[in-house]
Amino acid sequence: MTVDRILPSDEAYDLLDLVTELADRELAPRAGDFEQRGVFPRELLRTLGRAGLLGLPYPEEHGGAAQPYEVYLQVLEILASRWLAVAEAVSVHTLSCHPVATFGGEQVRKLLPDMIGGELLGAYCLSEPQGGSDAAALTTRAVPDGGDYVVSGTKAWITHAGNADFYNIFCRTGGPGARGISCLLADAGTPGIVPQAAERTMGLRASPVAQIAFDEARVPTDRLVGAEGEGFRIALSALDSGRLGIAACAVGLAQAALDYATDYARQREQFGRPIIDFQGLGFLLADLATQVSAARALMLAAARLRDAGRPYSTEAAKAKLFATDTAMRVTTDAVQVLGGAGYVADHPVERYMREAKVLQIVEGTNQIQRLVISRSLAR
Ligand SMILES: Cc1cc2nc3c(=O)[nH]c(=O)nc-3n(C[C@H](O)[C@H](O)[C@H](O)COP(=O)(O)OP(=O)(O)OC[C@H]3O[C@@H](n4cnc5c(N)ncnc54)[C@H](O)[C@@H]3O)c2cc1C
Repeated sequence: MTVDRILPSDEAYDLLDLVTELADRELAPRAGDFEQRGVFPRELLRTLGRAGLLGLPYPEEHGGAAQPYEVYLQVLEILASRWLAVAEAVSVHTLSCHPVATFGGEQVRKLLPDMIGGELLGAYCLSEPQGGSDAAALTTRAVPDGGDYVVSGTKAWITHAGNADFYNIFCRTGGPGARGISCLLADAGTPGIVPQAAERTMGLRASPVAQIAFDEARVPTDRLVGAEGEGFRIALSALDSGRLGIAACAVGLAQAALDYATDYARQREQFGRPIIDFQGLGFLLADLATQVSAARALMLAAARLRDAGRPYSTEAAKAKLFATDTAMRVTTDAVQVLGGAGYVADHPVERYMREAKVLQIVEGTNQIQRLVISRSLAR
């Protein structure tokens, strides 16, 4: 189904056409096979990088494409509708460039063109085995020694662990709580940074996720992003943007499931009629279509606030919450629309359903999004 979009420039229409063509050619035919084998499509990400898709929202002077967030998110949405793991990889990479692009001093900013140039891949290391939602309690420590910080501890659930070229490490340089946290940018080849075996995940199997052990890894002090003690603020700022990326992934996935289920319901006949003609099923699809449109509208409203330089944190939380809950519902109901066929791997909807679940968990669970929204109401 074609989504009717109003975009801010002719360039944006061209970009979305190009992305659609690229996603149809490079992503859609590979997704099922790579997901089944659990292979990370690293080369494909280089292809996207060379097409300029790994630095879309960043300024041209740093090698980005200076696209408004509303355009970048719709690119992600199209990628996600063909292959969620690739869209998520682009979103995580873009999130991983945010600390340096937004808070980095001159020293680290000179690394940006390489980071968003297309050859390198980034990772964002906040979560730990003992602290996910309560990220301010993190315990990975960085101790100054000569011209380095010596980093020790363990990060958990790190997307691109073992495949990334650079890591944003949120670590404790001061006392307890949010104010004792700093952000370091480390090269993946740094001795003492040891990615562990990949987790065996329910879905998104083409997206590598693993713990990373930091065993007295020495990171030069000029790789400090922002000031000492500013790390938690940087982490949350990156997450505000990242949550919009996850919302876009969710909208794309939900659209793919809706399209597949609608197509099936038009063709499948029971009792002598296409099953979409039974009101029980037609109304179900109508509700799903409405939810997908609403999720997209919420995501774009938050993105436009961001593009206008206005506060958008609460709206980003609402968009992430609603879009990912919508993706879970739409993918689950898409399995129902296909009946028995929905439950087998011959059709992609069972994979979509497994993939949707993680979107309700990453970059702040949906309980944490509700916390963000309710706190803003209480203020
Ligand atoms: C596939 C995958 C990829 C990931 N990628 C990354 C990554 O690249 N970088 C990174 O840093 N992290 C990553 N994560 C980690 C993810 O952000 C965390 O899993 C998430 O923040 C939840 O933390 P947790 O798993 O420790 O759960 P916990 O914090 O232990 O939460 C357990 C449950 O308690 C609920 N809960 C916790 N606190 C509250 C509260 N105050 N009120 C109500 N409910 C609450 C949660 O919502 C959840 O349902 C990834 C996770 C997965 C599964």
